[in-house]
Amino acid sequence: MARKIVTRFAPSPTGYLHIGGLRTALFNYLYAKRYNGEFLLRIEDTDMARNSQQATQAIIQSFEWVGLSHDREIFYQSKRFDIYAKYIQKLLDEDKAYYCYMSKEELDAKREEAQAQGKVWKYDNRYRDFKGTPPEGITPVVRIKAPLEGAIEFHDGVKGVISVHAKELDDFVIARADGTPTYNFVVAIDDALMGVSDVIRGDDHISNTPKQIIVYQALDFEIPKFFHVPMILSPEGKKLSKRDGAMGVMDYQKMGYLPEALLNFLVRLGWSYGDEEIFSLSRLLEIFDPYTLNTAPSSYNQEKLLWLNQHYIKQTPNAKLVELLKDFGVQSLETYKGINTTPQALDSLFGELKDRSKTLVEFATQYNEILQAPTTYDPKLLKKLDSQGKEIMQKLCAFLPTLCADSPSDIESALHTFGDTHQLKIGQIMPLLRLGILGKGGGIAMGVAIFVLGVQECTKRLHALLDSHQ
Ligand code: GLU
Repeated sequence: MARKIVTRFAPSPTGYLHIGGLRTALFNYLYAKRYNGEFLLRIEDTDMARNSQQATQAIIQSFEWVGLSHDREIFYQSKRFDIYAKYIQKLLDEDKAYYCYMSKEELDAKREEAQAQGKVWKYDNRYRDFKGTPPEGITPVVRIKAPLEGAIEFHDGVKGVISVHAKELDDFVIARADGTPTYNFVVAIDDALMGVSDVIRGDDHISNTPKQIIVYQALDFEIPKFFHVPMILSPEGKKLSKRDGAMGVMDYQKMGYLPEALLNFLVRLGWSYGDEEIFSLSRLLEIFDPYTLNTAPSSYNQEKLLWLNQHYIKQTPNAKLVELLKDFGVQSLETYKGINTTPQALDSLFGELKDRSKTLVEFATQYNEILQAPTTYDPKLLKKLDSQGKEIMQKLCAFLPTLCADSPSDIESALHTFGDTHQLKIGQIMPLLRLGILGKGGGIAMGVAIFVLGVQECTKRLHALLDSHQ
């Protein structure tokens, strides 16, 4: 029987969940779910001083937003201290761990001494086999007995064989003087007890893995498969800064990104599948394979994220977009009086805006600019409102209410006919219409704007411009 895939995402809630973390979660989620396994969420909140409740909430909220659901309950390490204490005691009882009375001051002094000579000091196992009377006044730490010979070796699913010689490892601390267990210890205990079969995480953890393997071995736990994923770097090949993407996941929502776009973007940072770029979650659940993760770091590419976002905005049904846009200050067409609220109007307006918006923020801005009558006018375009311009505008005011406004194309052809009748070029008409209706040049097709706003509203706007610029 194939082994059950159980993966986990194990963030420390010391800061907001950033996109590197979300990518790790996504890889773990996809692998487990592809094989009908389980994906767990474990909050590594043992560092009481650095934890924040808000950060935990942001993690949960981010998961909800992107639609990654975890199995079982959320595990909190802070609630599992009894379990860790039991295993520390077990190792002490089995003589696989021991109390070490070397004080922090002594340790620091040794380290500094070595550093001054350009060396690295490694704990010298001095209490490993200590049987004497413990020195007074020192609360000991607990250290695990690391192997003295041979090597710790594992086959990383991304990096291949990793081997660390025993000489490079020391009897590391598993419980501090205050009794609290250390990171490498609790991670190994939890992964083992939760039945985690595969650990996909950032390669900043690769040096922790041999230590965790030592814990597994000491407790006869089955060692999971590890995949250490290279970092996401800035386009310049440096550590990601806020400017180029190291923001909280929920910031992406505020900036108008769709979760589908963000997940698609993230999965491609470190993984590829032929030359495909567009991946829905359901497609990823058929093909994602952590063994094909890239071995080289990936580079954050803002343009690509925007491109994907526009793709997914275009894919989103209009009714759903209306709902999403409410968070960006967009009110439905029905709330505007006297305009065209038919489904055709919504479809033609959204069709135009989808072509012109890379984010929901851009979409909302343009929508509101169209629906709300202009209060200011582009000064450059206003120059066209000379006496001839005003005359054309007067004629347009008379003409608009008479035209057949059944569709944007009807309106466009009526405007051409209007031009022919008055011997005006379309290039003389359109800028004036844009000025009066939208307050500025550019933007959506005039036929669509007039179709949606209706001829009454458009005529009103043209009059308002004329009145304010006598
Ligand atoms: N809590 C660790 C972190 O946030 C991750 C531990 C792990 O994935 O093994 O970096």
